[in-house]
Amino acid sequence: MKHKRIKAPKLRQCLEAAAAVIVAEEPRLNALDSAIGDGDHGITMRIGFEAVKQKLSILPESAGIGEVLKESGSAFMGATGGAIGPLLGGMLASGEKALSGRTEMGPDEFRLWLAAMETSLSRMGKAKPGDKTILDAVHASCQAASQTGSDSIGEVCAKAAEAATLAAQMTATMLSVKGRSSRLGERVLGHPDPGAVSFSLILHAFANCLKEAADEADPAL
Ligand SMILES: [Mg+2]
Repeated sequence: MKHKRIKAPKLRQCLEAAAAVIVAEEPRLNALDSAIGDGDHGITMRIGFEAVKQKLSILPESAGIGEVLKESGSAFMGATGGAIGPLLGGMLASGEKALSGRTEMGPDEFRLWLAAMETSLSRMGKAKPGDKTILDAVHASCQAASQTGSDSIGEVCAKAAEAATLAAQMTATMLSVKGRSSRLGERVLGHPDPGAVSFSLILHAFANCLKEAADEADPAL
């Protein structure tokens, strides 16, 4: 059965699943960044998610959803530099405020978190949809999640992940207006934004983790 609502332990599993995917995809993410940037995106993402995993491994079992997100975000930010460190760390951490007081994450909470991610990103990165950044994937996933009327976080996350993948592919058709790649003009055409690809990988890892059968022996999950 797909997960309809989850608690903090399952959220931790989702973050660990995302870390595993990002580590496995490091070479591809570096290659994508090499085409339009300095080729370190995979390395940065791997370092950030290794820090998230490390933090989760020492976080008390009792940590709630907000604490898990806040600690993951600050671990990511603390370990990484560049542009993506504060952006992605801030996205993860944005869930703490957005979900304050919630002990479970269902479709509504997941939508709130995605919306908080988009707000945090546009505030910090000052990008708009269409600027060929991670925001394109986040924006599309937000829209998809709000248009998916389901009572299952697994289903809503799967739709959001699909939308993020399409949006990441679409960034290949866009010119870059932010950061180093904006100086490359039309040379960026045909290459997707690595941050948008990373975000779609993270959401797919979440969706796959949410598809796994709930462990009936442990209702806390
Ligand atoms: Mg780079």
